Formats: sequence, structure tokens, C-alpha cells
Amino acid sequence: MEKKLTCIVCPMGCEITVDLDDKGNILSISGNTCNRGEEYAKNELTHPMRQLTSTVGIDGGIYNRLPVILSDNIPREKMFDVMEAIGKVRAKAPVKRGDVILSDVCGLGVDLLASRSM
Ligand code: SF4
Repeated sequence: MEKKLTCIVCPMGCEITVDLDDKGNILSISGNTCNRGEEYAKNELTHPMRQLTSTVGIDGGIYNRLPVILSDNIPREKMFDVMEAIGKVRAKAPVKRGDVILSDVCGLGVDLLASRSM
């Protein structure tokens, strides 16, 4: 069985082909320009992870919304849970870039950080 993936690690977007046996074990990986692509393909087929950026409402800031980012990647299947949790958060100015806005989001061991000062 053959699986096609587009590597999203860098803007080159290499088209990666993964050959799998009947049990889903990886036989070969091709099309990646560098080792990061191979690592991405392996992770994508076993435990896909994603980064998430968003905004939260902020009181007392020069804008109504504060850009935020997670401190690390999270399992792809947890994206909606995390987005729901982020949707309930409201920050309060002043905030410095890198401040923790929400710690241990959904018990995943990652924090929600301010992407800018406000
Ligand atoms: S395989 Fe390497 S060069 Fe290609 S998109 Fe992925 S990280 Fe970039």
C-alpha cells in the first residue's frame, strides 16, 4: 500500500511517498529532500502532531484580541478540545510576549503563550 504526504516542515513542501505493508508497517519512504521529511512522515503515520496559533480576547489592551501560540506541538486529534479551551480564555493587559496565558492546556503539558506584548 502506498501513502502520499506533503511535508509541512518547511516551505519546500516535498511530496513524500510512504510504502506500507498489509499491517501498516513502513517499508520505505521516498520523495523527502532531507531527514526532517522522513521524521515528519513517520510521525504523521503513527502520532500526528500540530502547532496551533490563535487569538484570545484581552481587557485593557490597545487591540481587542491578543495573538497566542502553544509552547509545543499537540496531538492532531486534540485540536478541537484545545481550540474550545482557548475560546474560553480572556487575557488582561499588560501582557509580555511569552507570558503564559493558560498553563497545561487540556492536561497536555503545553502552555498557551502570548505571541506579542500588549
Ligand atoms: S522534506 Fe525537508 S526539504 Fe522537504 S519539505 Fe520537508 S523539511 Fe522541507
